[in-house]
Amino acid sequence: MPFNNQQASKVGHEDLLRNPDIDAYLSSIGDVPRPEPAQLAQIFGKSPTIDAFEPSIPEVIVAFDGSLYEASADVDEPSRRVGYVKVGMVALNVKKYLDLSDRNMPYVDPMAVNRLQDRSALSMALPSAYLKEPSLDSVTDGYRAAIHRYYSSDKTKIGTDKSTLLDTLLELLRTMGAIVEENGAEWVVLPRCPAIDCDQKNVGVPLKGEGSCPSCMAPLFVTDKLRVWECFNEASTNAESFSRLMLASESLVLLHSLLFFKRAGLLAQLSNYAFIMDGPLSISGEAAPLHDPIMRTINELQLDMISHGLAPPLIMGLTKTGIAVEHFAALNESIPNGIAFPVTDEYRYNNILGKRERAKPFGDEFYYGQDVLIKTAEGRQFLISLPYPWNTKQDPEFQSSRFELSKYRNVDIAIGIINLFQSDLYENSMVPVILAHEYASISLAPGGKILDLVTARALGAA
Ligand SMILES: [Zn+2]
Repeated sequence: MPFNNQQASKVGHEDLLRNPDIDAYLSSIGDVPRPEPAQLAQIFGKSPTIDAFEPSIPEVIVAFDGSLYEASADVDEPSRRVGYVKVGMVALNVKKYLDLSDRNMPYVDPMAVNRLQDRSALSMALPSAYLKEPSLDSVTDGYRAAIHRYYSSDKTKIGTDKSTLLDTLLELLRTMGAIVEENGAEWVVLPRCPAIDCDQKNVGVPLKGEGSCPSCMAPLFVTDKLRVWECFNEASTNAESFSRLMLASESLVLLHSLLFFKRAGLLAQLSNYAFIMDGPLSISGEAAPLHDPIMRTINELQLDMISHGLAPPLIMGLTKTGIAVEHFAALNESIPNGIAFPVTDEYRYNNILGKRERAKPFGDEFYYGQDVLIKTAEGRQFLISLPYPWNTKQDPEFQSSRFELSKYRNVDIAIGIINLFQSDLYENSMVPVILAHEYASISLAPGGKILDLVTARALGAA
């Protein structure tokens, strides 16, 4: 670890590769495995072509993106830290956007695009290392309490609907059977009390959102069920816990938005929407069990709409970084233009992950959508994810048919959006996603420095 103010050397990794021990080790393990061109031609030759779909465009695209930042909370004691987690949501009116780009202009005026967006965000300032709330026993208790405050805040209500983000979490917990009835009341059960020095097992939280441990009297929250506090560090950086909170919150804000249309009786309007998430459709880490009720809720909502003669909305993830994106980019020459390739487990284990295929489906514990590589006619690659169109992974059709593109809904809309919004500015991205990212971004230096200052001021330390 560098000392304070010590910059990491920019040539560090080159020095490392010149190290004879590293060199010998890399030689000993051989080349990174890559599929043979003939094998690729066979695999991608069997993929559906995207011109088999009639591209279609929704009226409104809602894009989500999360960001997080951790800063020093005190100039004199910089180890005292505070975190920010934000999930930004940008709704873009597609028709008006197309009108803008129709005026024979060489580019779309960014200020005009700004005026077309409706934006909102779940924005959470959270305690991190050594930042204890005076009325609570531990830093972790403050972190748990802060998450509860944000999730149950009136600010998370959409329009005239009375439901908070906490209500949406409760609905998912009910769907997964995590709400139990005992003593004439309903409870969310935590496997153990989250307070330090308490080993009480199976503590219940009333559905209003908060309660207390019968043994140590520590406050308990329904949001503790997200379990992001389990990897929270009272005396060190919390990027990991904040990242898990951000990823879980992204999926929950998506579900909260979808359920708003249902609660408000606006399913006919929902037909005109498309939702784009940042990353695959998944929840990793301790909150991963929620992937299961999310998969069911999305599928039931879509089936309900279909049964009423309504077109279900597109819900799509877009993965911009990571090993799978790098893998397909490296193989770009061997992948024909204009195809849609559902990434099979066999392909992923053999060619991307380079490990033994597991008996369980890839992402069994956390994915609620299928990754599909789309390569446009122009040769741009997009790794998207579409919700599994089954209620559960126990459905035999999930086992037998999840790599068949024809089973998935709204592939035509996904292709329509990609064709329309593929951006020359950023590789593998699209205009609505870029807008959401810009909105969600808590920029690092020099903006990060300003955040440090604002935080320190708010706490009266500067
Ligand atoms: Zn306790």
